[in-house]
Amino acid sequence: MSDPLMQKLEDAWRWRESDPMRCQALLDEVSGTLNTFATEDWLIRTARQVVHAYLAFRDACQAEALSAATEALQVLNSQTSSWWYSRALNVRSCALLELGEYEQATLSLREQLRVSRDNGDVETEGSGLHDLGVMYTRTHPQTAESYLLSARAVFEAQRNTVGRAFCAYSLADLREAQGNSPEALQLYHDSLRHARSAGHQPMEVLVLSRLGELALSRGEAQAGEDWLRQALERETGQVGKRPLWVAVPPLVRLMLHGGRLTEARDMLLQQQARAQKAGMVVPLVAVHELLADVYEALDDPRRALEHLREYQRLFRQENSDEQARRVRALEVLHRTELAQQEADNQRQLNDRLKQALSELETLHRQVARASITDELTGVFNRHFLMTQGAAQVRQKTGQCASVAMLDIDHFKAVNDTYGHSGGDQVLRSFAQFLQAQLGSGTLLCRFGGEEFVVIFSDMPPEQALLHLDQLRLRLTDMAVPEFPSLQVSFTAGVVACKDGDLPEALRRADTLLLRGKRQGRGRILGDQDLPHQSRALP
Ligand code: GH3
Ligand code: MG
Ligand code: MG
Repeated sequence: MSDPLMQKLEDAWRWRESDPMRCQALLDEVSGTLNTFATEDWLIRTARQVVHAYLAFRDACQAEALSAATEALQVLNSQTSSWWYSRALNVRSCALLELGEYEQATLSLREQLRVSRDNGDVETEGSGLHDLGVMYTRTHPQTAESYLLSARAVFEAQRNTVGRAFCAYSLADLREAQGNSPEALQLYHDSLRHARSAGHQPMEVLVLSRLGELALSRGEAQAGEDWLRQALERETGQVGKRPLWVAVPPLVRLMLHGGRLTEARDMLLQQQARAQKAGMVVPLVAVHELLADVYEALDDPRRALEHLREYQRLFRQENSDEQARRVRALEVLHRTELAQQEADNQRQLNDRLKQALSELETLHRQVARASITDELTGVFNRHFLMTQGAAQVRQKTGQCASVAMLDIDHFKAVNDTYGHSGGDQVLRSFAQFLQAQLGSGTLLCRFGGEEFVVIFSDMPPEQALLHLDQLRLRLTDMAVPEFPSLQVSFTAGVVACKDGDLPEALRRADTLLLRGKRQGRGRILGDQDLPHQSRALP
């Protein structure tokens, strides 16, 4: 069900500019379906909120627009690649611009540009560039120009006629501000052409009015009136929710100026009825003000006063409403900032916690590693041997695991010759040598002093004995750089460990080791050499 709904929302978004009524109708359809089926699709709900925010912006309800867009942005925070995210940014930017919050609007528009580029949402990128251009038109015309030209390039590449109409209109406005009327005129005509081919009535009305006012400013009264009447005609035919009402004031002033008083009055009365019917206060305010002028010129001071009073009353009301709306919008803005700050704080706190946790984990790993490692040589220690090593041997019960115990010969003499730290160095080199030679399937531990234990997890003792004996012969290659003349040898006992009892195997290996020492050192003894009595382990 979500796809057709999403399609409807995409359509609603597409119609938002040129036909807000149609947009609203599509939105209502989606809302109706959502209520009926109580669907939990959050993306649809959020997309709906973005469209709603846009319509609120169009209806000059900036507080509503801002809060709906902001809420949508919060929901979509983890989905910034969604086009609805860049669109929500777009609505927020527009609302901020309308509220005159230029600093915030600039930030929002820049974010909109970045996100829409990342998302490949070209339409929103073009709108962002355009809106930045409009924002800078009065303050930094050159910056405005480069934004508007970039926007135009984006819309042209996309063959987006509505976008081209907007760009031409805003560029024309910029040229007018720069005093370049001929180019402005040309651009207004471009805009009109694009607006017509896109069927964008509000834009068409806007351009026709501008063309009318431009003609009037050049003193071309008839041409001006023709353009303005065209605008009015297009507007009267429009079913949109918010007629722009831009053509009436200049037309009435033109009539007043030419002494066509009753004509002006009739037009205004017609507009008054229309505005009252639509419940639109802003145009009504303008109508009453103009009617006061017209009745004054008609020498009817009583009616002029009536309209002036009505004008004042509505003006005050509208102004206080406007003020209240503004306050509400600024409250929303403030709340948004607070929420943002809160989110930033939370993020920083999270980062710090993560950092502390990872330090703890590292520390824990270090401690865990230290507790099983022999500090001097870096091989496993006796604790590890008697726990993990013993467990490993137990698992091998019935298989051919072997255990060897090694002891360096005459180590006391090494200490006597090279000092205790020299002895340490020899222990390190000996352990490294063993580790490098032993390879996989073996476990090397320092048992204590100059004694080491090796577990061969998959090797019968005869083979382990051969292996160790080769190693014993190769030990002459062991180089301790500091003591080139040193010769190290060791004696070892190797036993089978079929019953999985490591302490018992160690006792037997130690007995063999002692026997090896007695026989003259530098040799490996195996099970076959085992005497009947054994020495107790320390
Ligand atoms: P044998 O051939 O009979 O094994 O003679 P040995 O001298 O090696 O035997 P013994 O067990 O009597 O001496 C071991 C010496 O090892 C005694 C002790 O001072 C030394 N030793 C034990 N641990 C360390 C150590 O961590 N560093 C150093 N430098 N010496 C140690
Ligand atoms: Mg020794
Ligand atoms: Mg010893």
